[in-house]
Amino acid sequence: MTVSARQNSEPGHGYDAIMFSYRHAFHAGNHADVIKHLTLLATLRHLMRKDSPLLLVDTHAGAGIYRLDDDAAHTSGEAAAGIARLQSLLTNAKPPSTSAPNPNAKALADYLALIASFNRDGRDGWRVYPGSPLLMHALMAEPARAPVHDRLKLFELHPTDAQALQAHIEQLDAGRQVTMARQDGFDGLKALLPPPPTAGGSRRALVLIDPSYEIKSDYAKVAAAIQDALKRFATGVYLVWYPIIPRPEAHGLPRRLKTLAQQAGRAWLHATLNVGTAPSGTGLSASGMFVVNPPHTLKAALDTALPQVLHALGDGRGRGQTWSVEAGGAG
Ligand code: SAM
Repeated sequence: MTVSARQNSEPGHGYDAIMFSYRHAFHAGNHADVIKHLTLLATLRHLMRKDSPLLLVDTHAGAGIYRLDDDAAHTSGEAAAGIARLQSLLTNAKPPSTSAPNPNAKALADYLALIASFNRDGRDGWRVYPGSPLLMHALMAEPARAPVHDRLKLFELHPTDAQALQAHIEQLDAGRQVTMARQDGFDGLKALLPPPPTAGGSRRALVLIDPSYEIKSDYAKVAAAIQDALKRFATGVYLVWYPIIPRPEAHGLPRRLKTLAQQAGRAWLHATLNVGTAPSGTGLSASGMFVVNPPHTLKAALDTALPQVLHALGDGRGRGQTWSVEAGGAG
């Protein structure tokens, strides 16, 4: 796959000062992407054990795939401190300060094998990192799954990222199975739920909600989106990523989501990863994933994978390193 050239990729070089300064290219493959995509893939793998089609929705899709050798990745160094350290688990070519174990956690091995499949010529370092749209498509398109005909709906507002995403999905040659809109993902989601019944009469959906939280109102919008989605389609699987930062809205979001899941009588899972403060003392060091209606296998998968992720990503970083997985059953 050709990864589109990116323009206007400096942080803060925005079209709109508030809405559009976030560019995922600076963060692709960092620790937050690792917990997010690990959780997403383990969830999707479980849902795909059943042979009935899924509606997959990514409300905040980004550009779809990112270069790890361009200025954005080099400037931030986030992928080098994230996915590049995990790559060493596969190759056993340990980075200088890391004594990491092999990825014997199945979910971690699966995630890394999938990233490796986008980097087949990358023996001396992975060159690209697939975002959530291309990761989900990769699973839909696997030969054993392709005949099921899952559908993927993507939303992305940033003009440059939306254009890059459109170009990347055109290369997939997936026709109407994968579509995108340059539209607000919170609004777009409403029109998609409940999913239409399939020929077999089943309705199944997985929704990833992954905003950049540049705007404080995103926290409330996420909670409102989950509340609304549970009313429209209570059995959908909903995954929310959020940053763990000293801000009341960020602390409050997982608590609010837990309350919403419990009020709807739905099972939930809450996973967090804190890789410790960076030597520079700046940058995001922790984030979480909240899942409504998680597969029953997800807790065990993350309980095994996250300590290994932390072992690799926390090396050489400072205070606060921890991971957690908490889950609650349907009420
Ligand atoms: N989900 C992607 C992944 O895991 O690869 C990363 C998404 S990034 C964290 C968030 C994206 O949401 C940014 O590209 C941003 O431009 C976009 N965005 C911000 N507000 C939006 C909105 N209301 N609707 C759709 N996209 C939005």
